[in-house]
Amino acid sequence: MIRITDILDKVYEYNPGQETDIIDRAYIYSARVHEGQVRLSGEPYLSHPLEVANILADMRVDVESIAAALLHDVIEDTPATKEDIEEMFGPGVAHIVSGVTKLSALPFSTKIAQQAESLRKMILAMADDIRVVLIKLADRIHNMRTLKYHRKPEKQAAIAQETLDIYAPIAARLGIFWMKYELEEIAFYYTLRDEYDRIDALVNRARDEKDEYVRVVNEKLHEKMVEMGLHGEIKGRFKAHYSIYQKMISQNLEFNEVYDIIAFRIILDTVPQCYAAMGAVHSMWKPIYYKIKDYIGNPKPNMYQSIHTTVVGPKGERVEIQIRTHEMDRIAESGIAAHWSYKEGSKIDEDTGELFAWIRNLVENQENYNDPDEFIENVRIDLYPDEIYVFTPLGEIKTLPKGATPVDFAYMIHTEIGAECTGAKVNGKLVPLAHELKTGNTVEIMTTKGHTPSSDWLNFVKTVKARTKIRAWINAREKERSRSLGREMCEKTFKKRNQSFNSLMKSGDIERVADSLGFKTVDDLIAHVGFGKITPLQILNKTVPHLEKQEDKNEGLLKKLVGRKKKKESTGVIVKGLDDILVRFSKCCNPLPGDPITGYITQGQGVTIHRKSCLNMLKLSKERQIEVQWSLENTESYPASIKIRTEDRFGLLADIATVITKNKTNILSANTETLETGVCLFYFTILVESSNQLRQIMSSIRKIKKVMDVKRIIRNDI
Ligand code: MN
Repeated sequence: MIRITDILDKVYEYNPGQETDIIDRAYIYSARVHEGQVRLSGEPYLSHPLEVANILADMRVDVESIAAALLHDVIEDTPATKEDIEEMFGPGVAHIVSGVTKLSALPFSTKIAQQAESLRKMILAMADDIRVVLIKLADRIHNMRTLKYHRKPEKQAAIAQETLDIYAPIAARLGIFWMKYELEEIAFYYTLRDEYDRIDALVNRARDEKDEYVRVVNEKLHEKMVEMGLHGEIKGRFKAHYSIYQKMISQNLEFNEVYDIIAFRIILDTVPQCYAAMGAVHSMWKPIYYKIKDYIGNPKPNMYQSIHTTVVGPKGERVEIQIRTHEMDRIAESGIAAHWSYKEGSKIDEDTGELFAWIRNLVENQENYNDPDEFIENVRIDLYPDEIYVFTPLGEIKTLPKGATPVDFAYMIHTEIGAECTGAKVNGKLVPLAHELKTGNTVEIMTTKGHTPSSDWLNFVKTVKARTKIRAWINAREKERSRSLGREMCEKTFKKRNQSFNSLMKSGDIERVADSLGFKTVDDLIAHVGFGKITPLQILNKTVPHLEKQEDKNEGLLKKLVGRKKKKESTGVIVKGLDDILVRFSKCCNPLPGDPITGYITQGQGVTIHRKSCLNMLKLSKERQIEVQWSLENTESYPASIKIRTEDRFGLLADIATVITKNKTNILSANTETLETGVCLFYFTILVESSNQLRQIMSSIRKIKKVMDVKRIIRNDI
């Protein structure tokens, strides 16, 4: 158990010459009235006020606050009254202790009304005397540290949830970051135990791997600081579990995609040194410019100051480095407490008051709110600037990330409502589904039975829930379609070779085939056939090995018969990342080698190639577009259409045909049309190897006498 003398030593150190008699007396009084009481841990009750006072001493608060911390539970838990405290310790201490007592009556509940009430009390207490809230926060820290002694898991979870909902955000808003992180970390453990354990295991594994990495980065930073004549203290540490978890959830990342799992910090003496250090870091590792944040020049509302820069580190990875002075570091840890602690008069001084105008605003405005919903809405705007609060038609409040749309709202209510959502009204007016919701909006969702999600929604939804549900639905639908198509394709192929796909399915042999082709389930295998990644023939070959050989023999024979032509199975297009995929050319825009192209993944038919400027392509979903390029070793020919305008002349068609065939090109079709004006139109579809070759042919045609104009015909172009 911590001793009162340890606390006094700390107070002397930061506040020499201060009269501490009041602390001694508070300690003695507290010990007397709490006598015989024990904590759930089995320790004497007095250990709790002592720990709370110790936390506050570390935050360098004034003597009255330490005394009040020692007495913070006496009104609630002992026969002592506010009057007793006032008589013995003066009005200042009595005021703080009674403030803490009032706050202690907060219910353990996250129900909106009660949460609003809790926040309202906290905010009022902050404006009245911020020290009440500091003691309450320190009290909560110690209660969280000893939460393990609670017998009932439901109670642990309820206290932890309240900590996440109310105490951690308030600590953050007051700029006391160590408190925010510690509260969140412990609360995370009790509210989402499985997630906590999962991240803990991942962090521990990463820690083993990354120790060496941390050492290398630290050493390089240190060398650079020495070279620049800067005396910087360098720290490298792992991000908190809860911060990692939140980043994974909010950005839908896997653990190994959270790049700033280790944050490096350089702490220096002066502001100019900070900027010099930033320059030095940037000279060593390339900065990612949009990731530089200068909170020294532009402090955050909670007074946080630091430079944050993300650079491409020694292994080509992203590293976040924070640069700040020792003073800024202290403020970043203790926030508001750092600002008034030494100052006489206990209340927030004017400068700090200015920075915390938001507290005053909340309090001044709170009288205007009649119902808790309205109040909480306003409090939360200030506590969580990245969230919005909207209402259901029944007046229930829903929290969404900034930028959220009616589709996010619909999915938040229920997955089915999300899927079937076809329209939305905001404050009674129809809005598009991509409409950005604002705090205070009342949102009504219109649904149509049997309606299904659209992949376009992925372009605007903001919540992870909506995104994952829409993706899951699209994947399931595509898989379902691919599966029925795949089955159909297999049945046909098997039938052609006098085999029965159905009996293969029934025999159970199909599972072995799936396994040998690297698929976990038969469904997966069939779906991949439909998707064009596996051919039915591959399955057939796996089932009937002798057939495979026969096939080979046939192929050899065919090869002899048709010579090189059979080889031309290649399409001349490379699909990025996929070797073995069916490729088909769109009929709408007839792309030629040399044309900019893009691919579109089609149900069961692999990838369809379109010109990049094809109008049809622009109408198709971006989700399923895939990067493709022309193969350099291409020997294929492709159909291209041209239109030739000429004056009518005998023998012109023969001249054009000669030019085309001289270019070693085949004509697939030819049409002519004579207009009344005496103008003749020729339409040719010819086989060419590239857009270059086509251009050459066209320019040769232009040289023919009486030809007025030659154009390539591309349908659907923009
Ligand atoms: Mn307490």
